Amino acid sequence: MSITDNIKSLKNEIEVADVKLVAVSKTKPNEDILEAYAAGQRIFGENQVQEMVEKHEHLPKDIEWHLVGHLQSNKVKYIAPFISLIHGVDSLKLLVEINKQAIKHNRVIDCLLQIYIADEETKFGLGFDEAIELLEAQEFTELQNVRIVGLMGIASNVENPKQIKEEFYELKTLFDGIKLSYFRKEDSFKELSMGMSADYKSAIEQGATLVRIGSDIFGKRVIPHLKNEEN
Ligand SMILES: *Cc1c(COP(=O)(O)O)cnc(C)c1O
Repeated sequence: MSITDNIKSLKNEIEVADVKLVAVSKTKPNEDILEAYAAGQRIFGENQVQEMVEKHEHLPKDIEWHLVGHLQSNKVKYIAPFISLIHGVDSLKLLVEINKQAIKHNRVIDCLLQIYIADEETKFGLGFDEAIELLEAQEFTELQNVRIVGLMGIASNVENPKQIKEEFYELKTLFDGIKLSYFRKEDSFKELSMGMSADYKSAIEQGATLVRIGSDIFGKRVIPHLKNEEN
């Protein structure tokens, strides 16, 4: 199937469930993005700052860019002018830097806290306790130019659907708890980013509001970027 067909069928499938599609275009050329754009897609996800900055420069300005990979503090400044949503916030230090750069551009930058849900060794993501600790920190409550609009997680890369489902379920449970305790009055805290090509159906069943899909739209990546590599 073509990129156009893939976008159309995915949108049909997920929009009935009120879920938004993040088309993950990392490693893919601008022509591929433009084909998806022509099919109506407006949200694109990248995991490398440099690549996103170059694509942003050359592509239509009504594209919403989402950073889905890990972000290093010293690179925030390059995306601060235009980024729509940062999915992978995993430290207070990073949030402080995003806030600082957002002030320079006189904007509020939306972020998701990345929560560690997989049963794998990875450097990225907050544990449940760490997420709570961050939200309780005095320094966090003083940040005026970042807005936490939800949570993000990456399930284990395994063949076991039951395990994946449980990981998504745990993330949704944490999301509901955090919403009640910290964002009860904030309608903007509503996004749950979970699910990729291999597991988005399960993620939607468990309450995802954003799914991040790359290879099911654009085909396999020739240069297989890791899911969550260093930026
Ligand atoms: C690459 C990537 C995706 C998309 O993965 P596919 O398996 O190609 O759908 C989703 N989320 C993150 C964080 C990624 O890095």
